[in-house]
Amino acid sequence: MDSRPSKRLLVSACLAGTNCTFRGKNNLNDKIKKLVDSGTAIALCPEVLGMLGVPRERIELRGGDGNDILDGKARVISSKGGDFTMRLISGSYKVLDEAKRYGITDAILKSNSPSCGVGRIYDGTFSNNLKNGDGVLTALLKRNGIKVMSEREELYGK
Ligand code: SF4
Repeated sequence: MDSRPSKRLLVSACLAGTNCTFRGKNNLNDKIKKLVDSGTAIALCPEVLGMLGVPRERIELRGGDGNDILDGKARVISSKGGDFTMRLISGSYKVLDEAKRYGITDAILKSNSPSCGVGRIYDGTFSNNLKNGDGVLTALLKRNGIKVMSEREELYGK
């Protein structure tokens, strides 16, 4: 008998209303919160699981995107110059472990984030400009066969 929990969808915790952004706020999306409240989705934050703390220094990816981070070709840098590369990789792997435990097949993650961004992320200059690429968690989930979309995509209808 398959004893795994029945949820198959992962969402960024901040979208479900958890105050886990670097400012200690959330990015509540009512529709995504309902998915969590109904038991359809689980909500996790790779930066919290990476022990970056709340609130925390703002981070961005310098020298590449999430795939480059995973390949050791880029760094996760804070606005104060700290290097959080290993912590964010660790937090992302913790999310992946949970995703595997739940049999997650799909994820809805927060757009533009250095961790959760899908296709576009902040460019590493802390100037609110974007560049092409996935966040670290997004890249890791995709490498493991999980389909990832941002909350701005409307695959789930409105
Ligand atoms: S890492 Fe992801 S879940 Fe955590 S606050 Fe940032 S966007 Fe939200």
